[in-house]
Amino acid sequence: METLKFVIVGHVDHGKSTLIGRLLYDTNFLPADKIEEIKRVSQQLGRETEFAYLLDHLEEERLQGITIDTTQVFFKTEKRQYVIIDAPGHVEFVRNMVTGASQADAAVLIIDVQEGVREQSRRHAYIVSLLGLKQVIVVLNKMDLVNFSRERFNEVKEEMVKFLDSINMEAIFYIPISAMKGDNIVNNSDKMDWYKGPHFLESLNIFKNRGSDKDKPLIFPVQDVYKIDSKRIIVGRIEAGVIERGCPIKILPGSQITRVHSIERFLEKNDRAYAGQSVGITAEDAPFITRGDVICFPDREPVLTDKFHANIFWMAKQDFIKGERITIRCATQETTCVIETIKKRINSSTLEVIQGDGNVLRNLEAGEVIVKTKKPIVLKSFNDVCELGRFVLVQDENISAGGIVTDF
Ligand code: GDP
Repeated sequence: METLKFVIVGHVDHGKSTLIGRLLYDTNFLPADKIEEIKRVSQQLGRETEFAYLLDHLEEERLQGITIDTTQVFFKTEKRQYVIIDAPGHVEFVRNMVTGASQADAAVLIIDVQEGVREQSRRHAYIVSLLGLKQVIVVLNKMDLVNFSRERFNEVKEEMVKFLDSINMEAIFYIPISAMKGDNIVNNSDKMDWYKGPHFLESLNIFKNRGSDKDKPLIFPVQDVYKIDSKRIIVGRIEAGVIERGCPIKILPGSQITRVHSIERFLEKNDRAYAGQSVGITAEDAPFITRGDVICFPDREPVLTDKFHANIFWMAKQDFIKGERITIRCATQETTCVIETIKKRINSSTLEVIQGDGNVLRNLEAGEVIVKTKKPIVLKSFNDVCELGRFVLVQDENISAGGIVTDF
């Protein structure tokens, strides 16, 4: 079954946890004991059922190490399975996205319609755009607090449209909801006849998975090469395309061309393997192959370059000085690089452009930069093959920045 992964971001208290709780409840993915517990706690506090407690509860489990897959919450519809990537904060979110720890296909920006667009709403939207996410829904929450007013909805919507426009971003849907009361979440609210668009779940159902990468040209970054007897097994995850026994392959960054001799998955022999699968292959003749090489088809090669444009998000506490040498990792590739030019430096909270041509990047600043790598690396655009369109910058084994390739 297909899975769509999405992240919900927004200003604190605008209703993220409540929306998640409500979704799980309305799609019947909350265990009965959890529901009971939420009702009981809410009653004790003399409140309406507070779905936000569910998430607090999950958070507690996470802290205690009970939940294994900590960052993810699941539910299902007839169409597919959904994973909500729970990002406790935007730095974690960016870190997870750029390191590939959790890869969102879509983003939901939540705004308290009574409060309107806040600084954090802007910052999160900007981060979503920086990460190249194109499938975006804006939900205007707490419609019950403004008497389901169409005017107020339009006011806040207009403000957000203008803002997104200013950062070259577009949301596909604007949906008025009440996460607490359950309006326009999994069915059409009868309190907002004026709204003719899809409800929240419907809008998610329209979105596409990023995962349909099979039809693209082959991209197979080499994770490792194991020598077993005289065999050399090349292992990795296929990021795009299909690999078939007998097909010609090229090994970048060099110019070796050979053929696939065998493909193994879970110790079984296969004739072909697809994007998303981890496999081991042997080649007819490939004496020089190591971790970090990228296997492709000879006539369908990705870009190989030592210079590219990128948006980076500086997460480390200490400043980054232009020209400093730093390690860059992209898929399994690793080399060093320098940031040659900082074209723009942007305060990620106010979005103010700090300096036209900067020499430094500070904590939580975003930069439009030009990167020069020591060795050429293999790249694709982020929206084509995301694993080869994003990278991290590493200092002393700590991830200091994440970036998205914007142009080669
Ligand atoms: P988060 O910080 O974004 O996760 O926000 P929460 O989900 O914890 O919600 C913050 C507060 O807003 C809680 O007291 C919720 O009960 C309340 N809240 C969330 N959604 C709604 C809504 O649709 N209507 C109303 N009236 N209150 C809401």
